[in-house]
Amino acid sequence: MSLQEAITEFRGQFHGTVVEPSDAAYDEARKVYNGMIDRKPRLIAKCTDVADVITAVKMAKANDLRVSIRGGGHNAAGLGVCDDGLVIDLSPINYVRVDPSARTVLVGGGCKWRDVDHATHAFGLAVPCGFIASTGVGGLTLGGGIGHLTRKYGLTIDNLLSVDVVLADGSFVVASSEENSDLFWAIRGGGGNFGIVTAFLFEGQPVHTVCAGPMLWELKDAADVMKWYREFITQAPEEMNGFFAMMTVPPGPPFPEPLHMKKMCAIVWCYQGSLEQANTILEPIRSYRPPAFEFFAPMPFPMLQSLFDPIYPSGLEWYWKADFFNEISDASIEKHVEFGEKLPTWQSTMHMYPVNGKVNRVGTGDTAFSYRDAAWSSVIVGVDPDTANREKITQWARDYYDALHPFGAGGAYMNFMMEEGEDRIRATYRGNYNRLAAIKAKYDPGNFFRVNQNIRPAA
Ligand SMILES: Cc1cc2nc3c(=O)[nH]c(=O)nc-3n(C[C@H](O)[C@H](O)[C@H](O)COP(=O)(O)OP(=O)(O)OC[C@H]3O[C@@H](n4cnc5c(N)ncnc54)[C@H](O)[C@@H]3O)c2cc1C
Repeated sequence: MSLQEAITEFRGQFHGTVVEPSDAAYDEARKVYNGMIDRKPRLIAKCTDVADVITAVKMAKANDLRVSIRGGGHNAAGLGVCDDGLVIDLSPINYVRVDPSARTVLVGGGCKWRDVDHATHAFGLAVPCGFIASTGVGGLTLGGGIGHLTRKYGLTIDNLLSVDVVLADGSFVVASSEENSDLFWAIRGGGGNFGIVTAFLFEGQPVHTVCAGPMLWELKDAADVMKWYREFITQAPEEMNGFFAMMTVPPGPPFPEPLHMKKMCAIVWCYQGSLEQANTILEPIRSYRPPAFEFFAPMPFPMLQSLFDPIYPSGLEWYWKADFFNEISDASIEKHVEFGEKLPTWQSTMHMYPVNGKVNRVGTGDTAFSYRDAAWSSVIVGVDPDTANREKITQWARDYYDALHPFGAGGAYMNFMMEEGEDRIRATYRGNYNRLAAIKAKYDPGNFFRVNQNIRPAA
């Protein structure tokens, strides 16, 4: 049977939408969040349920098609889409079911975090996620998941109870700490290497209204603020989260006009508690270096989650570099200030996310996510809508990374990486790599799922 005949047969068995290059919907369907990515798959299968996912896996296997798994389409390296192969697009599987008495949240494999935030908020709950609501649950969770609630509740995977998975041979399994526990260990940080997760069962945490928002300082204060921050955030109550940023002030409200487009540094806070308590905890920085501007107030957690979405619409070009850090040394702070002054475009930024607190209380070998002993996860992103600036944003991010990397812990958060080769992947999983490779050999010996930060099956 020719591939075209196989596709015709597949269309008959599939409930969702199938998109081919000749279809009008093709160019829209192959776009991912990062505008730098321009891949042309042979086929896009928008799955409506688990049966569709199984059908798509079997079809790809029978026809020797390369497969990419698409959740929210946000991946830095654009790993949700592939050239010439089959994109298994989970976006129509976007249900969320909250069980308030069990405090669990069942999430379809194609959801975005905004779907989860919306559904859980009505019950006074939240699932610890990231910093942006438009990111996919699938990719973020399977890589680990770092966000506003990390210090108190750990990574997103630390709140994961079980998953439904379609494996490389088209079979379906459930994985949890009781069932297929090796697979459950591997998917908690190992990305999309082991199968297609069609449902995630999370523990919901009692988070409703938080006191949150950014404080901004002039770059002349950046070194002092960063030195204060590195001591503060490792000692602060775990209800307080705050990430440090080098940024340009967006040209619009709520920022005052005189600050628009000014290069500054910031800390974006999220406190689970009263405004009075928050103000007591933050009094030292306000009196030590009063912020040039702050927008810190009680707000519903979903509002905080979507605060930055308008600044980062889909389709901008992004170039990513990342590292974990155990400490922020004085010498590294000099580099941050130097590259903060050289931010190449207003949407380009550097974030330093704390991964201490609850994250550090889980062992480095307890889940595939290895860097439990790091204190920060940094990301440097060159961002701009204009392709003409691609070289400029890429070079700035690379130079910044080259200057910072010698101060790093070795590896990087895999969700913040472009395609950087096997050495970087090994550096990220450290002592967990060989176990991951052995589990890959058990569940996906032919490396069917290889459009990802790939872990090769052990020989
Ligand atoms: C603007 C922006 C903000 C971000 N903020 C954060 C943040 O705050 N915290 C954080 O931790 N990360 C953050 N990230 C990184 C994010 O976690 C990764 O980009 C992640 O890969 C996105 O997941 P996705 O499902 O949207 O990606 P996709 O591009 O759809 O998928 C990426 C990869 O994930 C795997 N995958 C996705 N869904 C599934 C599934 N259901 N089953 C199996 N494999 C799957 C596949 O291997 C796929 O190749 C951010 C990214 C962006 C662009």
